Amino acid sequence: MFFKLVSFLLGCSIGSFLNVVVYRLPNKMNLSFPGSACPICNNKIKWYDNIPILSFLILKGKCRKCKTKISIKYPLIEFLTGVIFLLVYLKFDYSLETLKYFLFLSFLIPIAFIDLKNQYIPDRLNGLLLLSGILFSLISINTFELSIIGSSVFSFPFLLIYGYSEAILKKEALGFGDVKLVAGIGSFLLYKGLYNVYIFITLSFVIGAIVSLSLIRLKLKSRNDRIAFAPYIVTSALIMMFIQ
Ligand SMILES: [Zn+2]
Repeated sequence: MFFKLVSFLLGCSIGSFLNVVVYRLPNKMNLSFPGSACPICNNKIKWYDNIPILSFLILKGKCRKCKTKISIKYPLIEFLTGVIFLLVYLKFDYSLETLKYFLFLSFLIPIAFIDLKNQYIPDRLNGLLLLSGILFSLISINTFELSIIGSSVFSFPFLLIYGYSEAILKKEALGFGDVKLVAGIGSFLLYKGLYNVYIFITLSFVIGAIVSLSLIRLKLKSRNDRIAFAPYIVTSALIMMFIQ
């Protein structure tokens, strides 16, 4: 019970930091300075008003000083991160895998939300994802090669789709940022046979097709809108993390 609670709370706190990353990184702001402040009245947020999920509930979703509404997406990202961290602990228990996937998630979650909001993935996050996947493979026995092969085999089909859609359709079906993202994901998921790569790709495109067609159907997006692809790739990577 103790470790389940610790995993959940750790996830919520990391989720709280990931909110800062999602908000500040695309705006080229420093991640640690200055401390969080209300964007409307500039009131510095005290530590006791910055407790994941809890503070949002206590303050009833409003700034303590000016009572401006705080977006529900902040506590939602915290809760979501907490839940996925807990699921990882339940699946991988007290192990190196758990630590590795906690790190993996700390990149995937902000990448999905930044792409959703800004339609691009910061190179810094993609680069750090790939680098930490490869570095982590050095800690476990015999996984370095699988990490390198994983990053190339997973991303190669995406590179082809990127190249062909650019050349034939004269339109990007997915961005080069997505190709780099998949290289990073491959370095974490490791090469465990072509079958896994095939499932990963299929999942990404099936989830992507279902969600984007629904969005167009519900008239939330038009056919010409650029639709962020990273959220589907990330969802598919999360599923692979639990099934492979
Ligand atoms: Zn305020």
